[in-house]
Amino acid sequence: MLSMVSFLIIVSFFNFLLFHTLVELFSILVAVLLSIVVWQTYPVSKNHFLMYLGSGYLWVAVLDFIHTIAYKGMNLVAISNANSATQFWISSRYLEAFILISAPIFLTRSIRRELAIPIFGVVAGGIMILILTGNFPDAFIEGKGLTSFKIYSEYLIIALLASSLVFLWNQKNHIDNYILNLMVAAIILTMIAELAFTFYVSVYGVSNLVGHFFKFFSYWLLYEAVVHTSLKQPIKLLRQDLKKEIHDRKLLEKELIYQVSHDSLTGLNSRAMLEERVIEELNRAVRYKHELSVFFLDIDHFKSINDQYGHHVGDIVLGSLARIMKREVRKSDIVARFGGEEFVVLLPETSLDKARELAERLCTSVELETIKFEDEGEVNLTVSIGVATFPAHGLTWPKLLDIADASMYKAKKGGRNQVVVASDDQN
Ligand code: GH3
Ligand code: MG
Ligand code: MG
Repeated sequence: MLSMVSFLIIVSFFNFLLFHTLVELFSILVAVLLSIVVWQTYPVSKNHFLMYLGSGYLWVAVLDFIHTIAYKGMNLVAISNANSATQFWISSRYLEAFILISAPIFLTRSIRRELAIPIFGVVAGGIMILILTGNFPDAFIEGKGLTSFKIYSEYLIIALLASSLVFLWNQKNHIDNYILNLMVAAIILTMIAELAFTFYVSVYGVSNLVGHFFKFFSYWLLYEAVVHTSLKQPIKLLRQDLKKEIHDRKLLEKELIYQVSHDSLTGLNSRAMLEERVIEELNRAVRYKHELSVFFLDIDHFKSINDQYGHHVGDIVLGSLARIMKREVRKSDIVARFGGEEFVVLLPETSLDKARELAERLCTSVELETIKFEDEGEVNLTVSIGVATFPAHGLTWPKLLDIADASMYKAKKGGRNQVVVASDDQN
C-alpha cells in the first residue's frame, strides 16, 4: 500500500491525468474484486449484507470507469469533458451513499443475489441515460468551476454518509467488530474525500488529488472488510476446527493404542503387545548374539481365593501381584498378563542363571507380601514360575513359551511356590 501510494504521489507531480487514471483504475479494480469475492463466497457465507454491498459496488465501479475515461483530457470518448466526467462522478457518489445507507437493512434481512446486481444495473443505466441525453444537472462549467448543484450534492452526500454511519452503528450487534470498524473508517474516509471535492476549482487541483486518495483508501478498507469476512475468517474457522479435530483424533488414537497394548485390569502389557515386543527382542538377540529369558508364572490355587472372598477380591489380588512383579523385575523387562491368572515376563539380554536368580527373588517376594483388600481383608499368595532361555531351550517364540509353560507345570507338580528352570534335554 505504502509503495503504491508513494508511486501515485510521484506520478501526480508529473502527470495529473495519469495519476487520476491510475487511482480510479485501482479503485475500480478493488470494487470489482470486492464484487467477485462476495459473489463467489456467497453460497458459503450467506452474508446478505456483503452481497448487497458487492452488487452495488460493481455498478459504482462501472460509473467510475465511465467517469475515468470521460475525464477531461482523456479524449477517449466523445463525451470527454469536465462536466460529463463530474456528472458521472457525482452520480456514482450518490449511488455509493445510497448503497451504504441502505446496506445495514440486509444485516437482518435477506436479498436474492440474482436480483441485487440487475436492480443496481437498472439504476446505473438510468443515470447514464440521463447524463448522455443532457437531462442531468450540470456539475462543472468551464471557466466558472463547480456548479452549486455539484457542491450541494457533495454536502448532501456527506449527510447521507453520516446517516449511514448512524444506521450501521445501530445494527452493531449484528456485525463483527472488526468489520464494523473497517466500514466506519471507510465511510469516514469517503466523507473526507467528498469534503475535499467541494473545495476544488480545477479538476487538476490539490483538493482533487487528496479527494481521490481518500476515495481509494476507503475502497481498500471495504475490500479488506469483505475479504476478511468472506475468505480469511471462514478459512481461519475451518483451520481451528481442523486443528481440534486432529488433536482429538490423536488423543483417541493414543487411547486406543494404549487399550490394545495394555491389560485393563492390571495395567500390564497385553498379550498383543508382548507378541510385538518378542519379535523385536528375539531379532536383537539373534543379531547381537545375546541370550533372552522367559518366565511363565501362574498363581497357586487362585481358584480358592475367588471361592473364598469373591471374584472382585480375586481381581484386586491380580492387580497387587502385577505391582509386585513390576517392582521386582528390571525396567527393561516386559511384564505381560498372558491369560486369566497367568503372566509372562520377557527378560532381554538375560542368561539362564540370572533369570533363575530373578525368578527365585520374585517367588519369595510374592510369598512374603501380604496383600490387603477392602477394610480388614488380607491374603497371602504363592506363585509357580517356569523359566526358559533363548537359544538354549528354543529358537522360536512358540517353542520357548511351551518350554517355560512346561517348566511351570513341573513347578506345580513339585509342590507349587517354586521356580523350575527348563533343562537342556527339553530342547
Ligand atoms: P493352580 O495352582 O493349579 O494353578 O490352581 P488354580 O486354582 O490357580 O488354577 P485354575 O487354572 O484351576 O484356576 C484359575 C482360576 O483363575 C479360574 C478363574 O476363575 C480364575 N480367574 C481367571 N481370570 C480371572 C480374573 O480375571 N479375575 C478373577 N477374579 N479370577 C480369574
Ligand atoms: Mg492357570
Ligand atoms: Mg493358577
